[in-house]
Amino acid sequence: MAKKVASFVAYDPFRADQMALSDTDAEILRFEQICRQNRMKVTYQRLEIFRQLTSTTEHPDAETIYNRVRKKIPSISLDTVYRTLRLFEAKGLIVRVGAIGDSARYDATVDSHHHFLCTRCGAIIDTRCKGLDRTSAEDLACDCGQVEAVYIELRGICNTCLAKARKHRQASGTARR
Ligand SMILES: [Zn+2]
Ligand SMILES: [Zn+2]
Repeated sequence: MAKKVASFVAYDPFRADQMALSDTDAEILRFEQICRQNRMKVTYQRLEIFRQLTSTTEHPDAETIYNRVRKKIPSISLDTVYRTLRLFEAKGLIVRVGAIGDSARYDATVDSHHHFLCTRCGAIIDTRCKGLDRTSAEDLACDCGQVEAVYIELRGICNTCLAKARKHRQASGTARR
């Protein structure tokens, strides 16, 4: 078997400084800064994986990220995506969120927010519901220790699934008539 040559494309952080900053450039610079703070090497593969995560609110799993990144970097392996996600998670760049089923889902939004999990389609929706935010650490009498953050995971049926069920009911109702 031919030895696979690592195809890392080195990212040049100085290149972006010479141009007017587009959204993408600003994103690259932000990533570069995050990497530097976390003593991580900036590679094109890592940047693309991170970019996939920041460009969606879907909380994708590793395989979804892999399929999207592969369109830009065909040589990337699923294993690299898994390893990169674990690294990002360990460095606090992303968080792993609760999932129904067995594949971990990832979130690049690391500031305080809550999740609504649809038990029917598996969607994970960000929520910053004011009612939830008022639930301050002090309000939660906790005997376990000092509360530093509050994270709430709501489970239920999302609006899309509710609408689908309603349509289905209406359709079968008309059929029976
Ligand atoms: Zn749903
Ligand atoms: Zn989220």
